[in-house]
Amino acid sequence: MFADTATKLLRRVFLPSTFVASVAALSAQSVPPTTLYTEFQQQPPAVVLDSIRGETEAIMGRMGIGLEWRSLAAARGNEVSAQLAVIHFQGRCDASGLTPQRVQPGALGWTHESDGVILPFGAVDCDGIRTFLQVDLLAVPVADRERVFGRAVGRVLAHELYHILTRSSHHSPEGVGKAAYAVRDLLAGRFVFDAAESAELRSDQVHVAAAEPSR
Ligand SMILES: [Zn+2]
Repeated sequence: MFADTATKLLRRVFLPSTFVASVAALSAQSVPPTTLYTEFQQQPPAVVLDSIRGETEAIMGRMGIGLEWRSLAAARGNEVSAQLAVIHFQGRCDASGLTPQRVQPGALGWTHESDGVILPFGAVDCDGIRTFLQVDLLAVPVADRERVFGRAVGRVLAHELYHILTRSSHHSPEGVGKAAYAVRDLLAGRFVFDAAESAELRSDQVHVAAAEPSR
């Protein structure tokens, strides 16, 4: 029932290294959980937001990684985080306005990189995810649609967190860390990191230095 065309997730965005110094100062502390600052271009419906959070926490939680969610807008600038990630959600994070048309968007999410170093800044493209999934979302009962859509957004978010927490642009052959997701990956009942990714994320939990990618 699902299309198996896939779309690339990683698009690298390069930032000047002066910017990296201030980020490194923020992220070079130690001790989990990861503080996740979110910024939505448009505030999503509560159902979608709950679903994004629930799925991301489920995926990361299975790795023993706890998340503390904060709004970037409410950040005072004096918080100290062991691990931090800042994620911008682009476009409209809801499941309205679907059309029965197959669209192959560009990257669904990306992580910023500077001089070969993965920065704790990422983005998730809600418009891209929605149009990529729209034909199949139309087949989901209306009552479940926003929850299913939010779960898909949570999977793309988990993928970008994978890059940020492992400080690597590396992709794995299977699981949440693979380079491209098919529609079925985003809509399946359950989607998890594979064993190698799990080991990588777990080992990184004791890896405190934040400035170097783990390649
Ligand atoms: Zn990626």
